[in-house]
Amino acid sequence: MSVQLDIDGIDSWGFKHEGPFIIAGPCSAETREQVLETARGVAKTGAHMLRAGIWKPRTRPNCFEGMGEEGLKWLVEAREETGMPISTETATPEHVELCLKYNVDLIWVGARTTVNPFAVQALADSLKGTDIPVLVKNPINPDVELWIGALERLNKAGVRKLGAIHRGFSSAKVTELRNAPNWRIFIELRRRCEGLPIICDPSHLCGKRALIPAVAQKALDLLFDGLMIESHIDPDKALSDSKQQFTPEDLGKVIAGLQVRHPAV
Ligand code: PEP
Ligand code: MN
Repeated sequence: MSVQLDIDGIDSWGFKHEGPFIIAGPCSAETREQVLETARGVAKTGAHMLRAGIWKPRTRPNCFEGMGEEGLKWLVEAREETGMPISTETATPEHVELCLKYNVDLIWVGARTTVNPFAVQALADSLKGTDIPVLVKNPINPDVELWIGALERLNKAGVRKLGAIHRGFSSAKVTELRNAPNWRIFIELRRRCEGLPIICDPSHLCGKRALIPAVAQKALDLLFDGLMIESHIDPDKALSDSKQQFTPEDLGKVIAGLQVRHPAV
């Protein structure tokens, strides 16, 4: 069954880009220096938007849970210095309110939030009357209806700059990848939600640097509209997702090595 979404294509969101839309930056904003240095590096890689998690949904307590509002101020500084638009994950209406306060250019809904219709509805209600672009990561479990349901909730609340991110799904199968890709679900989402921009996040999908370039290339070959890739100035010392982040220099090489065999749609 096809899904009617009232949305504007990614090219009308106002971000400068040619070909696939690339979002890159640290898993988490940790310090002012780390954000600014990473942003300076990422700005030279061909990426179009900076990312950094400010509120981190950690699996276990007592891990680094994000810098909150202070981190948003660093992102704003990074935007002023590099000219790159900025993005972060929001999970609650309070997060949305702060992102609007600092004019964050795009927000995304994390996989752990997409699974919860109450949380998504609260986010949707807090976005009424705004025009900030919102990307919705797939839920942790391979449930296309839950993913579409989250997109519909946001769209019903008036979010027109809407897109999706495939970051892989939890699976009982043990593989090299951190989260299993499900290209069939991606194709189904694309077929059912006509015109919906869909980005691939090979970082959370792979969990390991070495596996990321091939998955990023596969995503481009499958006509994903863009990529979200994590980058940190000193990956091995990152406070979250240290194994899957590239230095900005290595990220630049990965991006330069990607082939766009088809025009992005
Ligand atoms: C992230 O983007 O850093 C993140 C926590 O991702 P996910 O929601 O895909 O786990
Ligand atoms: Mn991460």
